[in-house]
Amino acid sequence: MREVTRRRLLWCAATDSSFERIELADGPALEGKCLHCSRKLLLRADGEPISRATIEHIVPRTHGGGDELSNLGIACARCNHGKGVRLDVRRADDPTLRRVIETLRERRRARWREPPSDWDLPSRP
Ligand SMILES: [Zn+2]
Repeated sequence: MREVTRRRLLWCAATDSSFERIELADGPALEGKCLHCSRKLLLRADGEPISRATIEHIVPRTHGGGDELSNLGIACARCNHGKGVRLDVRRADDPTLRRVIETLRERRRARWREPPSDWDLPSRP
């Protein structure tokens, strides 16, 4: 996995209150919830996914969405892929696409927190 993706995953987890630090048998990890389906997701402390966690662009890149943290969330691969196939290809004014974007935005906002000061984070992506 690309280093920038790992950093993005770490920073998304750090700013998402569903994520907390846990200890697994083989070391520290982060556990949180998919932005779509709330399924449990696990990352290693360096951001490498243990389960299939991916970066979700809330406003898709194809519609001008950027890489700022407020537009990024962590989603399981299945949800992220599903949204990409079903929704991101739609026109920007498509009501279903707009509704899903609004829902994800609200959820990201509701879970938003400042990065915990005791997390050892790499430089911001
Ligand atoms: Zn999911």
